This record gives sequence, structure tokens and C-alpha cells, in this order.
Amino acid sequence: MFENLSDRLGGVFDRLTKQGALTEDDVTAAMREVRTALLEADVSLPVARDFVKRVTAKATGSAVTKSITPGQQVVKIVHDELIRVLQGEDAPDSLRIDNPPAPILMVGLQGSGKTTTTAKLAKRLKDREKKRVLMASLDTNRPAAMEQLAILGTQIGVDTLPIVPGESAVQIARRARTQASLGGYDVVMLDTAGRLHIDQVLMDEVQAVRDIAQPRETLLVVDGLTGQDAVNVATEFQDKVGISGVVLTRMDGDGRGGAALSMRAVTGKPIRFVGLGEKMDAIEPFEANRIAGRILGMGDIVSLVEKAQQTLEVEQAERMMKRFQKGLFNMNDLRSQLEQMQKMGGMQSIMGMMPGMAKMAKQAEAAGMDDSAVRRQIALINSMTKRERANPDLLQASRKKRIAAGAGLDVAELNKLLKMQRQMADTMKKLGGMKGGLLRQAMKA
Ligand code: GDP
Repeated sequence: MFENLSDRLGGVFDRLTKQGALTEDDVTAAMREVRTALLEADVSLPVARDFVKRVTAKATGSAVTKSITPGQQVVKIVHDELIRVLQGEDAPDSLRIDNPPAPILMVGLQGSGKTTTTAKLAKRLKDREKKRVLMASLDTNRPAAMEQLAILGTQIGVDTLPIVPGESAVQIARRARTQASLGGYDVVMLDTAGRLHIDQVLMDEVQAVRDIAQPRETLLVVDGLTGQDAVNVATEFQDKVGISGVVLTRMDGDGRGGAALSMRAVTGKPIRFVGLGEKMDAIEPFEANRIAGRILGMGDIVSLVEKAQQTLEVEQAERMMKRFQKGLFNMNDLRSQLEQMQKMGGMQSIMGMMPGMAKMAKQAEAAGMDDSAVRRQIALINSMTKRERANPDLLQASRKKRIAAGAGLDVAELNKLLKMQRQMADTMKKLGGMKGGLLRQAMKA
């Protein structure tokens, strides 16, 4: 098993003391791990090197936020940069299929999933964009491949060009264009022949077909599991034929996705779709987010960081619960409760969820405790001194006047707040004293 990048980085940063910003040494240590992780994810060495150089420049001196560790911070920077590179600025959202019939040339090695992908894309265009699509196989060496496309066509309800034995690839391409024009098709997809390896004959043929077909899109289909080979294939096709984008297949397998990054960096062409299985619906537009997560060896860094924050909140809640059980409930506690409620979508919904609190929620509603009331209450608490918040019994007339004025509100409103705090302190005490820790259960609910 691969260790994931966040674990590795965690290891690096555990040895460091807490600092406000990432120093050059921290970043250098972390980048060794990042580079190893990239290489293990099948990113090519020059691409990994270049990537690390750019991330180093970004990470050095960047401030470490309190809620996450320096390791997570670096992972986040790496993640964001991965997305930036993978996404590119020039990737179009959809296939260019204006001026019907728009030719789409499908190229790639044999076994890459080219025929399957041709049919998947045709189905997508038909189902989602209501386009009339004609598919044609140009694989004159392999009658079985032509048959396969015809079978898939029947299965998905997309027309295929009738097979005429003895025609060359160029002849088929020409016939396909004519047929598409005459038949009023919106798109004509040309599934070119594949070879096991790239050779001159293949490239010559694809070039000739390209010149006849004048494709609006030339999509290279590559097997996402083949790593470095996939990058070499992409470079060859880009140099010899020119491609407008890449489709990575078998991304449902456990390939690590590094090929995507290399391919993007080396060819400069966007990845447009990913194949996620053998079924005809198993294709999706490329999402940089998902691949970035794969390369880093984890689902999603952002959710990881969020989880870290949640853990902090749980710890905070537990600390508060201990206080409540002792019947301690001062203005600080009330304020954090009110703030929690604001965050979690309003008072009533939260109290309604807690056993024993439903009645209180009703009372609160009756007392006009809407969200603007919660904001006013927080303003009143903020207007108190530290000592007053910790010990609300201190609040005599003169202090009350000062606090209310500070919040721009009436003393009557402050009195209501005090009453509420006392009631809540009582309730907490009762609940905390009950057998079986009713409060604990209530907080967990
Ligand atoms: P071609 O020789 O490049 O035309 O390759 P095919 O389209 O015949 O695909 C070869 C094999 O790969 C077939 O068994 C496909 O079902 C399978 N295949 C294609 N794309 C995917 C994919 O995204 N995921 C998986 N798991 N299998 C795929």
C-alpha cells in the first residue's frame, strides 16, 4: 500500500515546532515527500520536478492557519496547484460540434478503449444534446473492430456507416462525410485504426484521414492505467497528428492518475473525459478535483481539512458539556451556544433536535427568538467585560446600563437575556444530574 501524502507530510511536520509561517527548510523537507508521492502516482520525473519547483515558491512564507497543521497546509497548496495545472485555462466545456456535420476523429492505440469511447461519446451526444450522430470504423485491418462498433451502435441506437469490404481508411472517411451531409447528421465520429505500438504506417494513415476529414475535434484515447507509456503515446500523437484533447480510460481501476498530470504538462492539451467502466454510460467530463485527490492518495483534501475543524468543534462541545454537568453555564457558554445555533441553521431546528429541548424551543419561538434576536443577544454579550461574562451575577443597574448602551439596545432586552441564561444554567444542572447522563445523550443526538 502507498502511504498517502498527508501521512507523509504529517511525519515531516511532527518534528517541527509550531510556527506562524512555513520556512524554506520546512518546505524543502515537505517537497521531498511531495516529489516521491508524485513519482509513485506515475507522474514523469521532469514534470514532477517542475511542479515541485512551482509549489515551493508558493508555499514558502505562506501563513499557517490555526485550524490546520502545517502538513495539511502544504497538502492544500499542492492540491490547489494540481488542480490549476490539470484544469488549464483553455479547456472547452463541451465538444465543438457546430457546423454540422461536425467530424470528430478518435485516435489511439489498440486496446486503449477507443471503440468503446467512441460509442460512449456518441450516446452522450444523442441523449444529452439530442444530436444525430453517425459513427464509422476505419479499422480496415480488423474486421472484428468494425463489427464491434456496429454492434455497439445498435445497442445505443446510433447509426453506423455500412461496412464496405476492401475500402481504405481514407475512402471510408470520405464516404462517412458524404453520408453524414446527405443524411442530415449533426456529428460524424471516425474511429480510426489502432496498432499495438506507434509506427510510421499508423501515423501516415491517421494523417491522411485527418486531412480528408478536417476534424473539429481530434480526441486521443489513452489507457489511464499505462502511466508513462500513455504520456509517450500522447506526445507522439500530438507531434504527428495534433490533438484537441485526451480521453483517459480505465479510471475506474486503481491507476494513480499521475499520467493525467504528465499528459497535461507535456502535450499542453486538456483532458476532456474519463472512462469509468465498460458500460455505455461510464464516461464523465474530466474533473481536476478527483484526479488531484487520487494523485495525492486521498479522496479530498478540502474535506480532510474540514474534518479537522469538526474535530476541534467536537472537543470544544465536550469541554462545554463537562461544565454544564457541573451546572456551570455563564455568558461565554451562552454566547458559544448562540453562535453554534446561528451556524447550524437557527435556534428552533437545533433545540427541536435535542430531547427535552423541544419545549424550550417553543418558548423561545413564542418569545420572539428569531435569528435577529440571536444577533442582538450576541451583541449584548460582546458588550460585557471578561469578568462579567464569566460571572453574570455581577450585573447591577449601572453595569447593565453600560452594556445595553454599548450594544445600542434597551436594558429590558439585557434582562431577558440574563433570565434566559439563568434558566439555561438551571436546566443544564438538572439534566447533568440525571442518571445515565441525559445531557450527554442529548448532545450526541
Ligand atoms: P480499442 O481497441 O481501443 O477500440 O479498445 P476497446 O474499445 O475494444 O476496449 C478494450 C476493452 O477495454 C474492452 O473490453 C472495453 O470494455 C474495455 N474498456 C474501455 N474503456 C474502459 C473503461 O473506461 N473502464 C474499463 N474498466 N474498461 C474499459
